[in-house]
This record gives sequence, C-alpha cells and structure tokens, in this order.
Amino acid sequence: MAEDSKKVAVVTGGSRGIGRAIIMALAEPGLTVVFNHFDPPEDTAADETIQMAQDKGCEIEGIRLDVADYKAVQEFIAGVLDRHGRVDILVNNAGITRDTLLMRMKEVDWDAVLAVNLKSVFNCTQAVARQMTKQRYGRVVNIASVVGAMGNAGQANYAASKAGIMGFTKSVARELASRNVTVNAVAPGFIETEMTAQLPEKAKEAFLTQIPLGRAGQPEDVAQVVKFLISEEASYITGQVIHLNGGMYM
Ligand code: NAP
Repeated sequence: MAEDSKKVAVVTGGSRGIGRAIIMALAEPGLTVVFNHFDPPEDTAADETIQMAQDKGCEIEGIRLDVADYKAVQEFIAGVLDRHGRVDILVNNAGITRDTLLMRMKEVDWDAVLAVNLKSVFNCTQAVARQMTKQRYGRVVNIASVVGAMGNAGQANYAASKAGIMGFTKSVARELASRNVTVNAVAPGFIETEMTAQLPEKAKEAFLTQIPLGRAGQPEDVAQVVKFLISEEASYITGQVIHLNGGMYM
C-alpha cells in the first residue's frame, strides 16, 4: 500500500479481550494501530497484542494511559497526530465493571465506571473530531453493551454508562455526518473475556439461559461487526447501535 494511503486507527483498551480481537481483525500492512491500556504498568498482555499485530505486518504502538483522564487523552492524541499525521478510525472500547446492587453501591464505584466507560468516549472522540472533520473522513465505533438497552440488576453504574454511550453516539453522528465522519455503537451481549470470567458461575448460567443461540459470544464476533462498520461498505451507516447478543435482546 502506498505511504499516502496509510490509515491510522486508535483503539482504547487494546491489550486483551474484545479490544485485542478488534486490533487483530483490522491488522494489515498499511494500517498503523495505536492502542492503550492502563493497569498494570508492565503488561505482558499488551506486549502480546503488539507481537500478534506485527506478525500480520501491522505497525502498532501500545501506550499506557488512563482514558478517563481528559488532559492525558488530549496529549495522547496530539502525540499520535505528531507521529502519524492523521487518525482515520477511533474505537472506544476500554471499559470496566464495578458490579453491586444500588443500595450497596459506593460513590467511588459509580464515579469510576462512568469515568472509564463514558467520559473516556467524550475525551477520545472530542480529541480526534477536529482532525477527522478536517480530513473529511473518519470512522468512530463505540463499544456499548446490551445492558445499556435492557438494564441489569447489579449494574446500575455500568448500564447507565453504556446507555450514555448510545445517546452520545447518536448526537455526535448528527454533528459530524456532513464531514463524512460516521459514528456508530456496537452493543455486545455476553462475550467470553476476562471481564465476564470474573462473574460468579451462577450469574454466568443465568446469562446463558437467556441466550436463544445457547452460547456465549467470542471477542471475534464483536471484532467482525466493528470491522464492517469501518469498511467502505458501511459508509451509509451512522448513528446506529448494532446489537450482537445471540438473541438475548431483540
Ligand atoms: P477486558 O477483557 O476487561 O478488557 C478491558 C480493556 O480495557 C483492557 O485492555 C484494559 O486494559 C482496558 N482498560 C480498562 N480500564 C482502562 C483505563 N482506565 N484506561 C485505558 N484502558 C483501560 O474487557 P472486555 O470484555 O474485552 O470489554 C471490552 C469492552 O466491551 C468494554 O467496554 C466492555 O464494557 C464491553 N463489553 C463487554 C462485554 C463482555 O461480555 N465481555 C459485553 C458487552 C460490552 P488494562 O487492564 O491494562 O487497563
């Protein structure tokens, strides 16, 4: 691919799980990926992601950064633009859970989930918006969740953050459409990653009984939808929330 057709993708939370699968689905020579992760500082998972993408001929950088930190994100994106000159794709994937029932939820659990899951989407999207509109090209994909649409006991903070992402997606899609920047969300159901591995066995079984297809999803299932949304074939899709959940929510 010619140097001037090189594309640059930023993926938040790319060290493992769905973020890593998204990077692997996109990775090809001619694409530069910059991803971030936060904890722990020395992360072998981040190193593995870098190696796996390099094996596919993709240029890749992993940067330790808290996506909830507005100023740090501004500096991060400024650095990407300095080094690579453009940002074509932004996948807002980083997310955390701090599950507990409302009556037991601590303020710190509410604040952390809203900051990492929702404020980060504002931070990163705002930071790339000027460049994308200047380029007259951009693809933003936000990773929401089925619980943002249907709610879930024990996840008031998480569900609120993901419902917030859906409203944000539709609003910003309307703001940026005239500049050929599409903004969509993907709302996965129950996907097998470290995030869901933490759930008690009973909670996992309860999820599985609600899935008509009878199985959990894989990170690659999510990655393929993201890959489609940033493709040329999806250039007429904006402001949408694409659900993929084995039929759990229809
Ligand atoms: P995961 O395996 O726990 O991975 C989360 C990723 O986010 C890691 O790379 C993590 O890196 C990064 N991250 C967390 N906090 C961060 C911060 N403050 N700054 C920068 N990076 C941060 O989770 P996953 O299951 O792949 O989930 C990915 C996304 O999909 C999340 O938004 C999640 O809410 C959403 N989702 C997941 C499911 C599911 O069933 N798994 C369903 C619906 C939606 P470090 O650990 O290094 O910080």
